[in-house]
Amino acid sequence: MTDLAHEITDILRRIARHDNRPVPLYEPRLAGREWDYVKECLDTGWVSYAGSYVTKFEAMLKDQTNAGDCAVVVNGTVAIEMALRVVGVKPGDEVLSPSLTFVATNNAIAHIGAVPHFCDSAANTLGMDPEKLAAHLAEIAERRDDGVYNRRTGRRLAAVMPMHCFGHPVDMDPLLDLAAEWALPVIEDATESLGSRYKNRPTGNIAAIGTLSFNGNKIVTTGGGGAILTRDPDLSRRIRHLTTTAKLPHAWDFNHDEVGWNYRLPNVNAAIGCAQLEQLAGNLANKRALAQRYQEAFSQLDGVRIFEDAPFATSNYWLVALLLELPDSDLREAVLTATHAAGFLCRPAWRLNHQLPMYRDCPRMDLSTAENLQARIINLPSSPGLQGL
Ligand SMILES: *Cc1c(COP(=O)(O)O)cnc(C)c1O
Repeated sequence: MTDLAHEITDILRRIARHDNRPVPLYEPRLAGREWDYVKECLDTGWVSYAGSYVTKFEAMLKDQTNAGDCAVVVNGTVAIEMALRVVGVKPGDEVLSPSLTFVATNNAIAHIGAVPHFCDSAANTLGMDPEKLAAHLAEIAERRDDGVYNRRTGRRLAAVMPMHCFGHPVDMDPLLDLAAEWALPVIEDATESLGSRYKNRPTGNIAAIGTLSFNGNKIVTTGGGGAILTRDPDLSRRIRHLTTTAKLPHAWDFNHDEVGWNYRLPNVNAAIGCAQLEQLAGNLANKRALAQRYQEAFSQLDGVRIFEDAPFATSNYWLVALLLELPDSDLREAVLTATHAAGFLCRPAWRLNHQLPMYRDCPRMDLSTAENLQARIINLPSSPGLQGL
């Protein structure tokens, strides 16, 4: 074991203390009224799509994000897929998206029949690099009557989809300016960043449309679930229509005017979500305090640092990221081996999506920063409950 791996493990022993069981990377904290609300669903029979918790959860999410509208759906992946669909992404189009992301971001693009076009990350946010994207578009994109095209592939460039990595906001203003210049719609993949702010604006509601996930490892969980945020009333109407089987409202007639989807979140899941959102402020405070404790402890150690907010960002620190000073996958493996042996289930960042077999042949720009970051990132145990141990 290297000295560094040993020292990192010692710091984890001090900070992420635990009771003789492995410390997971992330576990949900269900410390509020989840049980009461779910019991009420079961007692009253309102377990499915109709039910007051769905409406209440959507209202609470709107409040939290200041979004114009919020539609909850069965998971974050379909939330992204639906967002892509309503902004007009079609089969055969390309969507500019990060390579350094959880695979669901790019799977949602593939589910439409569209193609990810991989973009590099910025070292100061871990998310999409607006400057590098600007240079890339200047090189490969051209405007035609019916849109912007990739000159190299002949495919239409249909949208830009930044993802707020581990909760750290992307530098959105230059990205939104760039997208406006090219008349490209922007979708925020805010599935990891509920509670994060960019220049004091809640992520997910910075672009005209954004998505959330309530998977079990996210800061608010409904077991499984997702949401689409938008402030555009036309998009909002489309989203609500398409995610609810495209049924025309009527007291008894079952009439549908196009192919729709059944993506509605059941009331039982929404009930858990309501209880979770009641605890969000406390969990955010715990997570920022945990990140601070990691930051202080690791600042004593040469060769590593905790990734911190850019000046314009307030992250939810969904997953705390330890960065090796230099890309060194052997050292990273040694650290993971040592921490796992000691019961701390740390994790490297995801495999870069452009290296996965199904996305290997997709178009991309130079991805050297994402490659560099990927060989340096180690995610540390980040459960909101850790702070209280
Ligand atoms: C969690 C997550 C999603 C959506 O995941 P679901 O499990 O489908 O809710 C999408 N993109 C990223 C980056 C994520 O972390």
